[in-house]
Amino acid sequence: MVHPDQVVAQQARPRPTLLSMNGVEAKVIEALRKQGEISRTDITNLTGWSKAKTSQKIRELVNKGLLVEVGEGASQGGRRPRLLRINDRLGYLVGLDIGATSLDIALADVGGKICQRRSALVDVRQAPEEYLKDCRALILEMASAQGCLPDQILGIGIGVPGPVDFGRGVLVAPPLMPDWENYHIGDFFQPAFPSAFVVVDNDVNIMALGEQRAGDGAGIDHFIFVKIGTGIGSGIVSNGKIHRGSYGSAGDIGHICVDKQGPICRCGNTGCLEAMAAGPAISEKAMLAAKNGSSPLLRQMMEVNGGVLRPEDVNAACREGDQAALDIIRASGEMIGDVLAGLVNFFNPSHIFIGGGITNFGNHLLVAIRRAVLRRSLPLATTHLAINFSRMGPDIGVTGAIALVNEYLFQPEA
Ligand SMILES: [Zn+2]
Repeated sequence: MVHPDQVVAQQARPRPTLLSMNGVEAKVIEALRKQGEISRTDITNLTGWSKAKTSQKIRELVNKGLLVEVGEGASQGGRRPRLLRINDRLGYLVGLDIGATSLDIALADVGGKICQRRSALVDVRQAPEEYLKDCRALILEMASAQGCLPDQILGIGIGVPGPVDFGRGVLVAPPLMPDWENYHIGDFFQPAFPSAFVVVDNDVNIMALGEQRAGDGAGIDHFIFVKIGTGIGSGIVSNGKIHRGSYGSAGDIGHICVDKQGPICRCGNTGCLEAMAAGPAISEKAMLAAKNGSSPLLRQMMEVNGGVLRPEDVNAACREGDQAALDIIRASGEMIGDVLAGLVNFFNPSHIFIGGGITNFGNHLLVAIRRAVLRRSLPLATTHLAINFSRMGPDIGVTGAIALVNEYLFQPEA
């Protein structure tokens, strides 16, 4: 069995020759990506090269356009060292965060700094070519606004709301977007962006990467990122890296059964966590409470809304002190917490970050989740466990998608 990380190159066309490098060069670039700027001495220590060889290699990498020399670092006695960093003008990266009904997209320099940002409301349940044509138009628009030519785009990282076979970069049996089954997104972008390396991953994995890159997850080696919205999923960071499992489906916790007698889920099974506790379940329970008279407030809101209640309405009712709405939100939090308790016992993370559409639900949901986890997990696993909402905001997905492609862009040739 080949690990998916090792076969990710299959997702993409050969990389531009500019970026081809051997293992030691890739190690230098990796250190630069992590630290920003390093000195020649750091490079000598890292690689074991002689001083002369270090100078020669740096010259090569600078001539190739990969590195630039910048100001001077702190002196350790003697001459101040000149520092090196990755050339931000080498090209650009694109991050795409494809949601069920919304699209977030960003253009960044190779250092990961976002230069252009767009959002659009697009329904993913259409044919992939049609959807991706809109994405392509937005990328070209951002590139033009930035003064970047299409062949200066060196990488496109993409998060999609469905199970991804990570080695091949295709969706497998995606319930939300059946037309995308086995569709090769990288092939679509190749003619318009011939220099781009394309990597596709699950949307929750890119959120976990975004949290790790620019959120409270920075520097944390073991955490779970949980997305709660229309569905429920998780991204697992183990030893500082995304754990995808043998084919890429690790973390799909939305289809863990919490009640065999429960409602039928969109996956076909009964009583999945997602079908019991995600946004649509919250809406449905609230509409029932409105109809059966247990909440006059919800009934009133439903009439104003033309016969429907959205999760945010339930949240608003809860803020008004409506007991039925509070019970519904607590019940969801408890079911999610029960499943997370199992994961905590199994994986022993130090942090759980919660993101997605219902994170602005505030403390009732969070308290219910925490309480269930504490009640059902082993003391050793929860003593130092922190469970919080992510504070990253709407850029989390694009930030993670850019980090994803950046990670694979500068890898040594296989
Ligand atoms: Zn299911």
